[in-house]
Amino acid sequence: MPELPEVEAVVRALDRTVGGKRIARVRVLRPQTIQCISVARFCRLLRGRVIGRVRRRAKFILMDLSGGWTVVVHLRMTGGFVYTESPQPLPPTARVLFLLDDGTRLAYTDIRNLGLIRLIPTEQLDQSEEWRRLGVEPLSRAFTVRRLEEMLRGSRRAIKAVLLDQTKVVGLGNIYAVEALHRAKVSPMRRAESVARSQARLVALYEGIRETLREAIAAQSAEPLHLEFIGAKRTKHRSTASYSFRVYGRQGEPCPVCGAPIRRVKQHGRSTYYCARCQT
Ligand SMILES: [Zn+2]
Repeated sequence: MPELPEVEAVVRALDRTVGGKRIARVRVLRPQTIQCISVARFCRLLRGRVIGRVRRRAKFILMDLSGGWTVVVHLRMTGGFVYTESPQPLPPTARVLFLLDDGTRLAYTDIRNLGLIRLIPTEQLDQSEEWRRLGVEPLSRAFTVRRLEEMLRGSRRAIKAVLLDQTKVVGLGNIYAVEALHRAKVSPMRRAESVARSQARLVALYEGIRETLREAIAAQSAEPLHLEFIGAKRTKHRSTASYSFRVYGRQGEPCPVCGAPIRRVKQHGRSTYYCARCQT
């Protein structure tokens, strides 16, 4: 499942690729993908609008359109985009097609059909119940060491469980929570309240989260996992960054910091990888 870095990489690539282009028309190949609005109204409202900025809130992809509307996309498990030039065949998993007036096409694809697309007036985006429950953006200015402390204070839950709670901080899934905890040298099993009591651990965790996400975004931006270009020139974007997991999926391999074998345990039904020597 895409986490914040994967979604952010798609957002940046989409912004470079389709930002400023006009939607000639829309074809919906799977009506159920469009939610909270009829397919006919969705297609009618999109026709002729110019795509402005493409941005992100939590793991929602927001495509702002001229005239005050925003297309909201959530990839869930297997959603993604394919950008093609017109004569190229479309993948069989294409669900919604945005035909752009320069002859290119942006297809929303989904194998398991768990993703969704909505069309919402831009000014109403933050009014939905789902939206209001979202926690702080970990790369925003609003996320501070103090804010992290408030989030963890008095919580008897394991620190990893709090990091995965999207009502506290958004975008961290199993992979990057595990990676951030290793970077911070904090055990995933440690109680959140005890992290809150140590300024050194708090700062290490705060920086661990931000550095992990920043590195992963930089690495993903070179080749976004959930955006494919077929027969179409991609907008050039060079990145020499690379990201390899420190502990995730590396059970039994040496810890990159101290060399002790990386352990794997089940925590709330998900795999947690950690180094028992340097994460305390
Ligand atoms: Zn170690």
